[in-house]
Amino acid sequence: MTTIAEKPNLEVAPFQNERVKDFRDPADAAAMRAALERVKAQLGKHYPLVIAGRKIETEKKIRSVNPADPNEVIGLTSAASKEQANEAIEAASRAFDSWRHRTLPERAAYIFKAAEMLRSRRFDYDALLVYEVGKSWSEADGDIAEAIDFLEFYAREALRYAQPQPIVPIEGERNELVYIPLGVGAVIPPWNFAGAIMIGMTAAAIVCGNTVVLKPSSDAAVIAAWFVDLLHEVGVPPGVVNFIPGSGSEIGDLIVTHPKIRFISFTGSKEVGLRINELAAKPQKGQKWIKRVVAEMGGKDSIIVAADADVDAAVEGVAVSAFGFQGQKCSACSRAIVEESIYDEFVDKLKRRVATITVGDPSDPANYMGPVVNESALKSIMRYIETGKTEGRLLTGGDRVGDRGYFLEPTVIADVAPDATIAQEEIFGPVLAVIKAKDFESALSIANNTEFGLTGSLYTKDDKKIERARNEFFVGNLYFNRKSTGAFVGVHPFGGFNMSGTDSKAGGRDYLLLFMQAKTISRKV
Ligand code: NAP
Repeated sequence: MTTIAEKPNLEVAPFQNERVKDFRDPADAAAMRAALERVKAQLGKHYPLVIAGRKIETEKKIRSVNPADPNEVIGLTSAASKEQANEAIEAASRAFDSWRHRTLPERAAYIFKAAEMLRSRRFDYDALLVYEVGKSWSEADGDIAEAIDFLEFYAREALRYAQPQPIVPIEGERNELVYIPLGVGAVIPPWNFAGAIMIGMTAAAIVCGNTVVLKPSSDAAVIAAWFVDLLHEVGVPPGVVNFIPGSGSEIGDLIVTHPKIRFISFTGSKEVGLRINELAAKPQKGQKWIKRVVAEMGGKDSIIVAADADVDAAVEGVAVSAFGFQGQKCSACSRAIVEESIYDEFVDKLKRRVATITVGDPSDPANYMGPVVNESALKSIMRYIETGKTEGRLLTGGDRVGDRGYFLEPTVIADVAPDATIAQEEIFGPVLAVIKAKDFESALSIANNTEFGLTGSLYTKDDKKIERARNEFFVGNLYFNRKSTGAFVGVHPFGGFNMSGTDSKAGGRDYLLLFMQAKTISRKV
């Protein structure tokens, strides 16, 4: 792969999604068990800040703990002070002066190498996600497979943008359009796709020639520390990626408002995304540009089950979309909207299906659901469950499981009104509201009645209903007769409308444009 830098026109193999491991394969299961042991032996390590390639230990630490057993410390990451956040932005600004002059293929070569190295360490990264954020084996592996996909996909995209861009020829001039980077970016990822989103956002920014400060989620700082090390191992120069963990509420505003920050690439909640958007809009003293904000935010995703649907398939799709990774996916189904004529059958079958879901320590592959990410999430979800009990009929679940880890039962609340709190607000946990719709027309209008617009599914055999939904179901990712989660890079470019974000599509052909600007160069001949 290194030869790409020397031969910019070298053909690379077409992009292919990384296959997610099937842990029924004894070899993969054994590799995962060994990785869990290896990673366990390293738990509790200290991880420094990285500014201009320098590793800096600070007194103040972010404690990353295992949500399945909060007494187990995954790692202690140094926390950046405001001064250190400033230093990191200055370092990124200096590094930009040279990094921006590297060609797109040269930068892509680093990203290809990073993909190779991540692939070779895949089981260790999987294991870390099991411990750090409570993912099951398959969910963890899906996350890292997606991270590898982002690296492979964006590196190829960079090669595509390096090619001559089509413009209309005119006599007497030689014209070209080239893509150049923006400058220093702040990359602010969430904890829920702690590998894929953090790695995808960082890789997209730097392959385009930007330099970044990476402020990881405080719930998933260790995996980010691993990845920053990996980038340096593959030779990404010092200062291109600066690592500044720290609480969003303490250093977030400083980073976002810094006059040398050119863009912010954020994924997280609506509340934080809107705040960033607002703060970034105000020019600061010495700032020469309008900051660009790419904000991918929350969801309140619906699956419509039409009267003619295959009810068993719909029950399966809803259960997996609602309770995979404890419902902590922006694409998770949190509302099943079911036509009246099959409502009772659906609810009955769903109750039986959810009863088969196992909850417990995700390092044991027998458990489908692990813990929610932290205590404050647990409390917030339990408050929503209490609200839900007054807004509908508790069908199943509703309680905490055990008292050590942050485990919750998969919870279904039926007979919920379309405008109820639990039908409108993002809960981000294993709580599903089931809503009865009198017909398809009404189901579609209920599906569109939130402020979000991220994912949605429709189960039906009726082509007319499919056509209506194609035109009127207002979500960024619309699926038919399948679950609402599990978008593949390149296959299902991902991102939502309305309060779900700034309409970007991660893993799509437009995505890198968000990190570049086009320059037209015209020469008289
Ligand atoms: P979050 O609480 O909004 O945090 C996201 C990131 O923002 C974290 O790194 C956080 O740091 C940081 N942050 C917090 N306050 C900040 C501030 N004032 N200024 C700058 N940064 C700040 O979200 P989360 O709980 O990590 O993630 C879950 C949310 O992400 C859900 O709403 C989910 O729907 C959404 N999500 C959306 C997508 C999508 O593609 N649309 C994908 C995944 C997740 P700290 O951890 O230090 O607070």
